[in-house]
Amino acid sequence: QWIYLDGQHVTKENAKVSVYDHGFLYGDGIFEGIRIYNGNIFKCKEHLDRLYDSAKSIQLSIPLSQDEMLEAMAETIRLNEMRNGYIRLIVSRGAGNLGLDPLRCAKASVIIIVEQLAIYPEEAYLTGLKTISVSQRRNIPDALNPKIKSLNYLNNILVKIQSNYAGVGEAIMLNSQGYVTEGSADNIFIVKNGVLYTPPCYLGALEGITRNAIIDLCAELGYTLKEQPFTLHDVYVADEVFFTGTAAEVIAAYEVDGRTIGSGVAGPVTLELLAEFRKIVDQDGYK
Ligand code: PLP
Repeated sequence: QWIYLDGQHVTKENAKVSVYDHGFLYGDGIFEGIRIYNGNIFKCKEHLDRLYDSAKSIQLSIPLSQDEMLEAMAETIRLNEMRNGYIRLIVSRGAGNLGLDPLRCAKASVIIIVEQLAIYPEEAYLTGLKTISVSQRRNIPDALNPKIKSLNYLNNILVKIQSNYAGVGEAIMLNSQGYVTEGSADNIFIVKNGVLYTPPCYLGALEGITRNAIIDLCAELGYTLKEQPFTLHDVYVADEVFFTGTAAEVIAAYEVDGRTIGSGVAGPVTLELLAEFRKIVDQDGYK
């Protein structure tokens, strides 16, 4: 396996970063997770735009242009002979002395990892996931703006720990006002009486690229979709609940906090959207 590390391709064993890297010391950096389907880098432009916007927002200068980054990704995919898989793009502040000040770091570090991926077994897409809501609160834009896909994932990791403890596959985060925001690493949708709802990102959700692809698909398929705030009550009484994300794609929740959702398996709208989504994943992107 070849890993891109600051302009060079090195083996997995030799892919090492400094203990003084501020990404390691302080979580000072950003990342993207991207899928390759049948040789196509799905929604490549959207992911690169989000990465470069995150960088600009935290005043991080990425030492590659978007075209150079694309070239580095394409080369890493080629070297690993990967037709279907996952790309992890990481830009950290780079190595510097101790101390928070990013001015201590001369140059950002760029890492590209390409790997196989299957987070859920295929049956889980039909049965759905058991889920809970958690006590961790998603930050709203008065703290770190959720649009920044930063290396600070401790809050999400605490959610994962709580999910592991409860023995569930995904969890639902609320914001401090009690509105549903998203999952631990996925956006959330509910379906009620044929209408789809997803929380507006300003409530505290990453503006997911899969989320946006599903919003586009809903328009194409003639579904009404509303971006509006909702609470756990609306989730409990929904006909369908599903999550979207680069790794998870589109996956249902069959139970939330002990309430069975719909008929207790992935519902028809979720399955239709998953099927339609899988039809476009090897088309919309960069080959
Ligand atoms: N929310 C969070 C916190 C995430 O980390 C992710 C994964 O990237 C998502 C939502 C889903 O976003 P996307 O569809 O762009 O992968």
